[in-house]
Amino acid sequence: MRRKLAAGNWKMNGLRTDLAELEALAATFAAPKVDILLCPPATLLAPAAACSGPIAIGAQDCHAQDSGAHTGDVSAPMIKDAGANAVILGHSERRTDHGESSDAVRAKAVAAQAAGLTTVICLGESFKQREAANTLDIIGGQLSTSVPDGSTGENLVIAYEPIWAIGTGLVPNLDQIGEVHDFIRTRIERRFGAGVGRSVRLLYGGSVKPDNAADIFGVSNVDGALVGGASLKCADFSQIINALE
Ligand code: PEP
Repeated sequence: MRRKLAAGNWKMNGLRTDLAELEALAATFAAPKVDILLCPPATLLAPAAACSGPIAIGAQDCHAQDSGAHTGDVSAPMIKDAGANAVILGHSERRTDHGESSDAVRAKAVAAQAAGLTTVICLGESFKQREAANTLDIIGGQLSTSVPDGSTGENLVIAYEPIWAIGTGLVPNLDQIGEVHDFIRTRIERRFGAGVGRSVRLLYGGSVKPDNAADIFGVSNVDGALVGGASLKCADFSQIINALE
């Protein structure tokens, strides 16, 4: 049975004072019935890990190398050393803003999994691709290239995040979400075998809010959510977590 997962992505938001939201979340969910992961900016990884209680902490990206001449980058062992145990990879904002290809995402995922981090690998189509009925082709291609061999139910989580739904208030209908999640499940079962394929958690991401979370969590093969804006405040994120519990 897959344990549900509520993951928050603070993106480039958050100063030390905002860790009060994390502390409040840790107090609210002292014994959570689902896994909770919060991914603050890299500057807050260590202080977040020090006050997160039962909430796991993750980064939002890592480099494919463990160390070296890569100014401004952060490696997977550094993330682990800061007290985090997960990393988001291949978020559409990184694919767009930093030109990250699925090959680059896979190289990062290999490094992250080797460092003992759980990789939350993001996939998603643009609105144009959906309108052209190319969604499953796009997701299939990103999935096969971005996810490394050797992935398991422990070190891999997949987040389906339609680009046009991120931060826009637009959400695919429930049938559309179910179609993509069922497709991803079938593909990973085929690639990794039924045991691993059934144990990998699939998150939906894109404008998940307190008022739509319960409906989305009722869709087949949706094991939780990757939440951006609504993870910034304990009051909002708590309601989403409650809908998952
Ligand atoms: C995200 O950043 O991964 C995301 C889904 O953002 P939002 O919830 O704000 O749409």
